[in-house]
Amino acid sequence: MQVTIFALRKTRRRIFFICTLVFLLLTASLSWQIVFAWRQAVAVPVLRLSGQTVVLDPGHGGYDPGVWRNKLAEKAVALNIALILRDYLQATGARVVMTRETDRDLLVLPTAGAKKQRDMQNRLKIITDAEATLLISIHVNATGDSRWRGAQVFFKNGCEGAKLLAGMIQQELGRILANTTRQAQSGDYFILNEVQMPAVLVETGFISNPQEARLLIEPEYQAKLAWAIYLAVIKYVEQLET
Ligand SMILES: [Zn+2]
Repeated sequence: MQVTIFALRKTRRRIFFICTLVFLLLTASLSWQIVFAWRQAVAVPVLRLSGQTVVLDPGHGGYDPGVWRNKLAEKAVALNIALILRDYLQATGARVVMTRETDRDLLVLPTAGAKKQRDMQNRLKIITDAEATLLISIHVNATGDSRWRGAQVFFKNGCEGAKLLAGMIQQELGRILANTTRQAQSGDYFILNEVQMPAVLVETGFISNPQEARLLIEPEYQAKLAWAIYLAVIKYVEQLET
């Protein structure tokens, strides 16, 4: 009889231990999600970006390819990176507004003026209407000198929030890509100058550099770029809230 009571207590203790463990694991999984990317596990609070609206602006599109080399167009690379970044941000609870999600320009919306001007004005309207926390415009660079390379972030001149975000994105790009030592700097871009919210423009690399062009076309490299920007957005939002 004594042995039976002892065994029953032992079983009860085991059940209690297992229930506690399951409860703790469930609580943890509701609060945190573990994300694996590039040989690194990152614990991101679930819905960390809930309540935040991010506008993603993949540069160019449709009639406007942006810069291009050997059939590789800026508009396609920018869109791929933006779509991956959209998914990362949405998975963490952000509301994401895209100026385009396909290979299209913004000429379908009615505005007056020259083609490029109409496209930019319509882009600006989408961005303004979104009432977003921040804007990230994504582009690809090119120059006549094929030696130039490296991702670089530009921010809206005179905007401290944009400067902070740009610095954080540049830091993550440097850390995760491990191939750029460029520094974030203010840039005189129409889209940055015209919007009210903190705005940055990420030049993701030079397609005029053959080695970097080969990287920019790789889906994994595009995902790395998106991942670096994503981590920086989380850091930025966390800093805003402290
Ligand atoms: Zn561009």
